Amino acid sequence: MPLNQIQLRQISKSFEETEVLEHFDLDIEEDEFLTLLGPSGCGKTTILRLIGGFEEPDSGQILFEGRDVTAMPPHERPFNTVFQQYSLFPHMNVEENVGFGLRMRGIDPKEIQTRVMRMLDLVNLRGFNKRRPDQLSGGQKQRIAIARALVNEPEVLLLDEPLGALDLKLRKEMQWELKRMQRELGITFIFVTHDQEEALTMSDRIVVLNHGIIQQQGVPKDIYDEPANRFVADFIGDSNILDGVMLEDYKVRFSHHDFVCVDHGFAPNEPVDVVLRPEDIELVAPEKGMLVGKVMSCMFRGVHYAMEVDVDGAIYTSQSTRSFDAGQPVGIVLEPDLIHVMHKEARP
Ligand code: ATP
Repeated sequence: MPLNQIQLRQISKSFEETEVLEHFDLDIEEDEFLTLLGPSGCGKTTILRLIGGFEEPDSGQILFEGRDVTAMPPHERPFNTVFQQYSLFPHMNVEENVGFGLRMRGIDPKEIQTRVMRMLDLVNLRGFNKRRPDQLSGGQKQRIAIARALVNEPEVLLLDEPLGALDLKLRKEMQWELKRMQRELGITFIFVTHDQEEALTMSDRIVVLNHGIIQQQGVPKDIYDEPANRFVADFIGDSNILDGVMLEDYKVRFSHHDFVCVDHGFAPNEPVDVVLRPEDIELVAPEKGMLVGKVMSCMFRGVHYAMEVDVDGAIYTSQSTRSFDAGQPVGIVLEPDLIHVMHKEARP
């Protein structure tokens, strides 16, 4: 059984009029890459700042390895934080920036040199030790900021949208890099982002938040394949979300058709949300379809085509490596296990 390294217990936190968290609980395991994912303002940064000790909860407890650290100042916690703004010292070179915290702690200069060089190796910037921040690219500055946080050998690294300022290509590169570093170091990473693709790529576990409430937590594949509610389905990946009725176990009606599905445990005739991923909507000849519609548009998206299909006024978005012409009648086939049925209310 993995150890819960950090536990947030019944945390409440408000800023003036804004209540961000109310009786919030979260467990974080040792050495996991945990991502807090949600739209702007949902409370991700507040949670990270509470863990880091930069904010105090109004009530509740934060435990580290079973010890109450709620009142402990940030520098005494075995955590380090990397922010979106690199906040490097402009007058110091790379080596001095990375070694700053160790110098403040009075560590022996030789030891500092060894540890700084080890960190520059880890972030692939060994040859850059004498450069000043203004001689580095955005991606290199962020690597230095990460090296500076890791040189203190924290047990937990807190990362607040650290890739937010980078362009897309660099961002993707850094996603791999961060994942590699976390594996190599074997420490806990708590990562904040509003970018679902980033979360799916890097995390061992994702916690999806909305208005300070956990909507779902789990491994990326489960979050993507089995969204717990409409919010998660809408926020993660592209989705078709349709109104349906669960007629009985394993039978759902939408678009005037009864489908076999794998869901059960709903009330008879319960109104439900039906989620279909575009890649799971198979387009076939009209006579072979469970539903029949008309292609409204077809767009080339690089790897696949995206088609919008009108089925009795409901628009289905489908993805396929085959293209279908606008105006063409098509059939739609839906496999039972690719139909996701969910209750209408948000379920944590
Ligand atoms: P983003 O992705 O935009 O950074 P977030 O999910 O990290 O958003 P938080 O920064 O945690 O959200 O903010 C949650 C709510 O608390 C927001 O409504 C924000 O305006 C408010 N808030 C955060 N910090 C403060 C503060 N110091 N004073 C007042 N309100 C604050």
